[in-house]
Amino acid sequence: MESDKQSSGLCAKCGKPAAITLRYMPADLCQSHFVRLFEARVKRTVRQHRMLKKGERIAVGLSGGKDSCVMLHMLHKISQSLPIELHAITIDEGIEGYRSRTLEIAKEQCSRLGVPLTVVSFREEFQSTLDGLLEAKGAARACTYCGVMRRHLLNKYARELGADKIAIGHNADDVAQTVMMNLMRNEPERLGRFGLTSGAVDDEAFVKRIKPLFTTPERDVAAYAVMKGIQIEFAECPYAKNAFRQYIRKMLNEIEGKYPGTKLRVVRAFLEQSRLMLDGARYRIEKAGSFAKIGRCKSCGEPSSGKTCSLCLLLERG
Ligand code: SF4
Ligand code: ZN
Repeated sequence: MESDKQSSGLCAKCGKPAAITLRYMPADLCQSHFVRLFEARVKRTVRQHRMLKKGERIAVGLSGGKDSCVMLHMLHKISQSLPIELHAITIDEGIEGYRSRTLEIAKEQCSRLGVPLTVVSFREEFQSTLDGLLEAKGAARACTYCGVMRRHLLNKYARELGADKIAIGHNADDVAQTVMMNLMRNEPERLGRFGLTSGAVDDEAFVKRIKPLFTTPERDVAAYAVMKGIQIEFAECPYAKNAFRQYIRKMLNEIEGKYPGTKLRVVRAFLEQSRLMLDGARYRIEKAGSFAKIGRCKSCGEPSSGKTCSLCLLLERG
């Protein structure tokens, strides 16, 4: 598993000077062969997992960070040959000194590609910015609040736009981190819901999610953005340092350094597990004669597996 192959400094495809070393393959590639590999891999992932269909309207979750910008760029590229309609949604959580910069990038990317953009803010939707909310709740739980609130808004606005799917810019590193976090927290049902394509829940109030970059390592996304001149912001959210995810990220990066390809193996293992879980769910659904329907939150009316949804529980509503 451990790779001892020395980098030759030359592209494995054409012998020109290499621009990048992909240790997980392992291979050195020049810029043009790396770009080709990158684009082919994303398109293959989209095709293999039947993420897009002709004529669909896709809501693109666009934070303005490198992953979502590269995803928008790829979906736009795909839309040249497969007619799909793109509409970006950016959530402004209200994070001082961070979100305003990425918001600008999101707007610029959309106007460059001619993709309409809807900006939704926590301040308008929840009468408070994330910063404001955390003054009372404490910064340690920033990502819990942020994640639940953002997911709720993305789903709600995508549904209102009549979107068939929401595209999320999670890369292979994000997926591997989430898998490890869920294992360590023993939250299998969360992992079940995390699905990379559509899950076993079929409910019209839930817009299905797709993750076109889930087989692409984060480092490749950054390299592609630089090579293609896609404007990216490397600044990190100020709350990220508090997150459990950061420990997992560091740990996975260390393991990857010693055993290249580990993150992609975690992603593949998760995919296999999900397939088995989904098969099990389909079997139960077939026996029951219909898809599992989930209920509605008694406070806000959004879909919820319990009486009150996780957003209303967090915000102590209802
Ligand atoms: Fe939200 Fe946490 Fe991401 Fe910051 S790091 S944007 S608080 S989820
Ligand atoms: Zn609710």
